[in-house]
Amino acid sequence: MKTLLNLMFVMGLIMANSLMATDIDALLKKMTLEEKVGQMTQVTLQVVSDQPLTTTQPYILNPEKLEEAITKYHVGSLLNVYDLAFTPEEWQDLIIKIQDIATKQTRLGIPVIYGVDAIHGANYTKGATLFPQSIAMAATFNTELSRKEGEITALEIRACGTPWNFNPVLGMGRNPLWSRLWETYGEDVHLASEMGKAYIKGQEGDQNDISDPTKVATCMKHYLGYSFPLSGKDRTPAWIPERMLREIFVPPFAAAVEAGTHTVMINSSEINGIPSHADPFVLKTLLRDELGFEGVAVSDWRDILNLHDRDHIAASARDAVRISVMAGVDMSMVPYDYSFYNDLLALVKEGAVPESRIDEAVRRILKLKADLGMFENPYPNKSLMEKFATSESVETSLLAAQQAITLLKNEGAVLPVPKDKKVLVTGPTANMLSVMNGGWTYTWQGDQEKVYPQEKMTVLEAIQAKVGQEKVTYVPGTAFDKEVDINAAVEAMKTSELAVVCLGEMPYCETPGNINDLNLPLVQYQLVEKLAALDKPIILVMLEGRPRLITRIAGAADGILMAYLPGLEGGRAIADVLFGDVNPSGKLPVTYPRYVNDLKCYDHKYSESAGPNSYDPLFPFGFGLSYTTFEYTDLKLGKYKVKKGEEIEIEVSVKNTGKMAGRESVLLYLSDLVRSITPPVKQLKRFRSVTLAPGEAQKVSFSLKTDDLSFIGTENSRIVEAGEFKVAVADLEQNFELVE
Ligand code: BGC
Repeated sequence: MKTLLNLMFVMGLIMANSLMATDIDALLKKMTLEEKVGQMTQVTLQVVSDQPLTTTQPYILNPEKLEEAITKYHVGSLLNVYDLAFTPEEWQDLIIKIQDIATKQTRLGIPVIYGVDAIHGANYTKGATLFPQSIAMAATFNTELSRKEGEITALEIRACGTPWNFNPVLGMGRNPLWSRLWETYGEDVHLASEMGKAYIKGQEGDQNDISDPTKVATCMKHYLGYSFPLSGKDRTPAWIPERMLREIFVPPFAAAVEAGTHTVMINSSEINGIPSHADPFVLKTLLRDELGFEGVAVSDWRDILNLHDRDHIAASARDAVRISVMAGVDMSMVPYDYSFYNDLLALVKEGAVPESRIDEAVRRILKLKADLGMFENPYPNKSLMEKFATSESVETSLLAAQQAITLLKNEGAVLPVPKDKKVLVTGPTANMLSVMNGGWTYTWQGDQEKVYPQEKMTVLEAIQAKVGQEKVTYVPGTAFDKEVDINAAVEAMKTSELAVVCLGEMPYCETPGNINDLNLPLVQYQLVEKLAALDKPIILVMLEGRPRLITRIAGAADGILMAYLPGLEGGRAIADVLFGDVNPSGKLPVTYPRYVNDLKCYDHKYSESAGPNSYDPLFPFGFGLSYTTFEYTDLKLGKYKVKKGEEIEIEVSVKNTGKMAGRESVLLYLSDLVRSITPPVKQLKRFRSVTLAPGEAQKVSFSLKTDDLSFIGTENSRIVEAGEFKVAVADLEQNFELVE
């Protein structure tokens, strides 16, 4: 009976799905060309708004413009905020107004899909739970936290009525100069793939049933190669040979497709001289034919127009539309006008773009809306507000920040600091919330300190709360790039027992965050150097989106904490780690360079690993200390001769040999000792965290598949070659042989 019921249930699902496909086709048949082209058009909220006269004036919707967008231009999608985050209620009001017009004042009643950048929580909504940025999430090596971030963020944006999130960022963070490094999961392919997959499942659900009112559609971005500009400057060319593209840059996107992501956003720049918005190899051959992606491909900001007036590959804006739509772009983030709509309409009418291509794109867009359940209910589900920014959600963000913070140096066990010490707190990032959050926080650049929730704690406030105000002296010392009162800081150091010096970067996002030098502004080094003359302990706290060089001052510091951009709970997390209420367990998801011109990643080639060419960063990828010590023993393989197709079982024992409980992320690396394409010295293949009490030991096991031993061969396809391999965990190694 139970089997029969199951069968009926499954049949019901199949019928519902096939019905949906038929419905979409039926709807498509009813649509005029204008309605279809409108579906492919996405404009920013500014297009339907009036300019506020002052920056403090609330958002002003222009109802006539909104009506025109939906009824005259049939726009299928809107995006973004107008300058400043909304309250959930403002979002809900806006979405209701949009959907009222879309469903009640248009012929076919197709709902409008609203897309937002919820990069570290619902960051365009006031009062939302804000998480550490992705680079910090990666430092936790905890996919469960990534899944939870996805889940909580999905609920909070869906509660606002915005069901489409332009995240996760799956570009590989392999150029530390790049201003969007912190939006990535770092330099390692496996780590980025795992964190991304977990985030997508959190947002879309295990079965990717995004009609679930607590789930949203994710958007893997920025496909492909955007994260690796040769110059380090945002939106400048990448030069990536096909083998490297397939080895390093494709896998996180392949993993995201496998995890069921519904949409993709395209690289705003170019690879090997071809802008991705115009590249059928990237958008069709790789994305559709090889990866099997079936969802919507949306352009990035203004990037179709860029093909004409920035990139000079299209003679006119209209031709840019032809090129990109024919290359495979389904929806244009125009974003400020209806040029795309007008041009695409004209192109179809003159026969330059076949209507079949329009149908293909619109079918995908309608399917996305159907999958989201928007045809049944496009309105915000206000009851979700009960679960908006709950204390559990905030605690999850705090836990993520605590697990992200990475202890890079702890000379003389200066950390944890006893709570009775007199502490000087100084430096440009000590007393601001914005510096812990970075871009995509309430505003695009995230730099409006006054709009941050004042009840949240800066590093200074969290330290004061933890040890008592009377034990803490605060002197700014410097701003980001100019002196404030270094001498006053030195004076205050005389009466303090140690200094917590908070350095780093001011918030930025995208191109405005470009830099010409990975060094920090000189004045930040001078602050440390002047304090160091007093010969008292100095602890650096780095709040930054990319590893700005600290080589010059690292020797003067006794302790160094890399805090990345730890989010709204970052102040508390930093104080917890400083004073030993939390034992740090983060590990670097990127190499921390020592020199300005030596920016290689950990998975470099053998020719880059010895003598003057050696990998010699200040701190390597995967590095992170603890207040306790871990001993690794007994690395064993199930077999030392493995046939292709067989699994390789690996086990290692980890023991907490110190005096404090601690969490340890166990990282498993693989090296292919000889192969036809020069191998990297090692590659991360698995990771797993264990939490151990003092004296406690645990066996950690992993299993590798033949595919984990593969690489992109001479023909630019994935192959596996028999031969000797090495497995390494901490300083233990074991070799095995792969045989045919
Ligand atoms: C960014 C994207 C973002 C889009 C919409 C672009 O400038 O590159 O990451 O999703 O704007 O805000």
